[in-house]
Amino acid sequence: MSKAPSMRCPHCKGKASARTSVELSLLYREVTYVCLYSLCGHVFVAGLEAIRTLSPSAMPDPEVDLPLSPHVRQHQLARQLSFALEQDSYDPA
Ligand SMILES: [Zn+2]
Repeated sequence: MSKAPSMRCPHCKGKASARTSVELSLLYREVTYVCLYSLCGHVFVAGLEAIRTLSPSAMPDPEVDLPLSPHVRQHQLARQLSFALEQDSYDPA
């Protein structure tokens, strides 16, 4: 399986190859890696987890609790504040 992110063996620091992947939830997957260095032979499991949102979905699932990245939240607040200030200064007369 080549879609999994590359990873190094934590013992010999050599390349490890992903062999299998199991989706345990929509936000978490476990990937089994095999060290490619034959004298090491370490086999291990790594976790792959969705941890934060960088750009909100246009089709949000209310069951998914994935917080906004702090820098995105700051950017959104700044835009909302800027928009609110523009509305306050709007004078239709
Ligand atoms: Zn190794």
